[in-house]
Amino acid sequence: MTADVLVVGASIGGLTTVETLRARGFRGTVQVVGAESRLPYDRPPLSKKVLSGVWDEEQIRLRGPQELERLDAEFLLGRRALHLDTEAHTVRLDDGRALGYRRLVLATGLTPRPLPGADSLRGVWALRTFEDGAGLRADLLTARSVAVVGAGVLGCEIAATARQMGLHVSLIDPSPVPMLRQTGATLGQLLYQLHTERGVRVLTGSRATGLVDDNGQVVGVTVEGGETIPADVVAVTIGSTPATDWLIGSGLALGDGIVCDERGRAAADVHAVGDVARWSDGTTGGSNRLENRTNAVHQARFVAADITGAPDDFQQIPYFWTDQYDIRMQVFGSLPADADVRLIEGTPESRRFVMVAEKDGRPVAVAGWNSAKAVMAAKTAYLS
Ligand SMILES: Cc1cc2nc3c(=O)[nH]c(=O)nc-3n(C[C@H](O)[C@H](O)[C@H](O)COP(=O)(O)OP(=O)(O)OC[C@H]3O[C@@H](n4cnc5c(N)ncnc54)[C@H](O)[C@@H]3O)c2cc1C
Repeated sequence: MTADVLVVGASIGGLTTVETLRARGFRGTVQVVGAESRLPYDRPPLSKKVLSGVWDEEQIRLRGPQELERLDAEFLLGRRALHLDTEAHTVRLDDGRALGYRRLVLATGLTPRPLPGADSLRGVWALRTFEDGAGLRADLLTARSVAVVGAGVLGCEIAATARQMGLHVSLIDPSPVPMLRQTGATLGQLLYQLHTERGVRVLTGSRATGLVDDNGQVVGVTVEGGETIPADVVAVTIGSTPATDWLIGSGLALGDGIVCDERGRAAADVHAVGDVARWSDGTTGGSNRLENRTNAVHQARFVAADITGAPDDFQQIPYFWTDQYDIRMQVFGSLPADADVRLIEGTPESRRFVMVAEKDGRPVAVAGWNSAKAVMAAKTAYLS
């Protein structure tokens, strides 16, 4: 069979593509291939409400079985795509089947970057899948101490959740402040204070060099300078790489993601959306690959509209949020480390504020802590 649309990756990007196609009246045949066997689920809660035990698997499901059935799409879950032939318009799966397509949408997301030596050790976790979340939680429940290697968004969220579970937490990162790449120096400094006040040992300017092995169980992390940080559990959050290995040799341009034009087209009849996709930016002439949920949804909607022949304008202001302790931080725009940041509402002491970031005198981002309404208003005022 040749599907009118074949989607590879059955998570938020792939699912939103299918839902948008149907919502726009697309009646063609649709197949969705997903490497994970479980029904599509949401990843953001994995480091928050799943890790803390507040939500279970059912509560993070993106759609129930009946909703999926109503999409009239064939879901091939637990199947991995291994090879793409763009000339023949086929994708070969790990069970040997070759699926034909008229249009292909790639939404394969990311693969966590491992720390050398981590594979063989018990107690070392990355966090990308539900299994990772459940396994990390089970280990945290019997642990006294955890070291989190990498203080990006994910690392900070895991540190906050583990601390709230009562563990001794060390957060290790070579940068001078947490989340420098995502939020810049000023907000990073506030995050440093937040974690420190809550009792996390924040080792910034500190590079992890290895894991300490005691009969196959991790017992610590070594850092540059020679110190060993004791830990019963280690969470490795040192970034991820786009899941494109299977596309090597397919003829698609790969360069930290699937390289696409500003409409998400990677080749004739091939589109890419979400964390794996690097879209060119028509305004700046550069390109962006964003790792957040909102971007995956927006790109998927846009590509589905493009397939149905009625494309929208793609104008998206990057957005992400993060929950740490009792703080929800929201950031619209891109916040370079060296931006000038000024407070426009509230105060850091009250844990409610909005800041605007400027580069070369031009607003490039707005960020808020516990200020959902005010940050939306600032977005409209400064970035629209
Ligand atoms: C723990 C965690 C917390 C997060 N928190 C936030 C947050 O607070 N805010 C926010 O905005 N974003 C957050 N994110 C990011 C957000 O979840 C992602 O941006 C979003 O999931 C991207 O969706 P996607 O569909 O592009 O990729 P993914 O969700 O990664 O899905 C890709 C799917 O493709 C499958 N796949 C890969 N290769 C193949 C193959 N060859 N064949 C078949 N299937 C394949 C994978 O198994 C996976 O199921 C978080 C992510 C994680 C992991």
